[in-house]
Amino acid sequence: MKPKLKTKLTCPMCGSKYHDPVQRCSCGEPVEFETLKGEPYIGKTVWERFWDFWPVEPELELSLGEGDTPLVKSKLGKELGVRLYLKNETVNPTWSFKDRGTFLAVSYALKAGYKAVGTVSTGNMAASVAAYATRAGLETKILVSESASDEKLKAVSVYGADVIRVRGDYGKLYFESLKLGEKLGIYFINSDNPFRVEGYKSIAFEIAEEITPDYILIPTSSGGLFRGIAKGFIELKESGLIDELPTLTAVQAEGCSPICRAFSEGKERIKRFENPKTVAKAIANPYPPSGNAVLKLLREFGWKCITVSDEEILKAQRELAGEGLFVQPASATGIAALRRLVESGEIDEGAKVVSILTGSGLKTLSHVEGGKIRECPLESLEECLG
Ligand SMILES: *Cc1c(COP(=O)(O)O)cnc(C)c1O
Ligand SMILES: [Zn+2]
Repeated sequence: MKPKLKTKLTCPMCGSKYHDPVQRCSCGEPVEFETLKGEPYIGKTVWERFWDFWPVEPELELSLGEGDTPLVKSKLGKELGVRLYLKNETVNPTWSFKDRGTFLAVSYALKAGYKAVGTVSTGNMAASVAAYATRAGLETKILVSESASDEKLKAVSVYGADVIRVRGDYGKLYFESLKLGEKLGIYFINSDNPFRVEGYKSIAFEIAEEITPDYILIPTSSGGLFRGIAKGFIELKESGLIDELPTLTAVQAEGCSPICRAFSEGKERIKRFENPKTVAKAIANPYPPSGNAVLKLLREFGWKCITVSDEEILKAQRELAGEGLFVQPASATGIAALRRLVESGEIDEGAKVVSILTGSGLKTLSHVEGGKIRECPLESLEECLG
């Protein structure tokens, strides 16, 4: 069964076109839907307000309330001399922005008649796909690496997913899953699946409904999130709904920064990052499947790629907690990058900056250096409180 799609897929690298919803181009690069244009409507959810912009009709009954997250004004901006806003994606149904893309991709899988979906992930994406698939009544195959801890996998298997630890080269698993998925009728919703990327456009739409940002800071691993936010803003501009594109900034951890490294060396293609090491596990993909596509966007629009150290990341995580927002290390990288950009004069004073807080800190408690805890006998409580 072929659901009706609003537009064709195209390869951003070689320009090939596809009428069928393929996962990747025959040249090896990711594909994306051709630019959609439209107008906004009045509606409760971002899916309804931007109805013209989805290549497939969202299954509203599948929704768990993903998206429409708060844009919080940050006090950290004052200290840095910018107007800073935090897009709080930690309040999504499975506590990360992944739910936006999963919702749209599972909508497609249902319409296309798939009985099973899957993903390759150990963290946020695995939990997200498991949650939406079980809600949709689909079987779920989650492929994880040999090294994935039992602790992390609890938040995935709780939804009833079939979680499979795969021995062997984890990097090859992404491509192997797409091949076997096609053969076995399992729709794999990996990190830069074209419907997933479309779902991430909703972040750009929601930001544009509230402010006209100058800069957006985007923690970047596979590149799916970056491509989605970029496509969202480009479609708003082509629809005449905004006048200028913001400067998008990809943020990577120093210990795993294949995209920033290729960008600063002026290369057109990324190279595998050997021996990745960072606390920001959610953005530690050494060979990002959308790396070359992100590089092309960075060059084409004169955007930026910034790396930050683990020390800076953990400091930013504490600063955000000091504002009442507990995010995982990967999600604090934007604030770490902002400090660098302000100090180097790359962001002007008074600029409007949005940092995407991609996922919740409760998922990665083992990295967290907690606060002070005092002991107090009940009899001395008055003194303790004084
Ligand atoms: C997935 C993820 C990212 C990076 O997204 P990509 O689409 O892989 O670039 C950043 N932060 C968190 C918390 C994530 O789960
Ligand atoms: Zn191609």
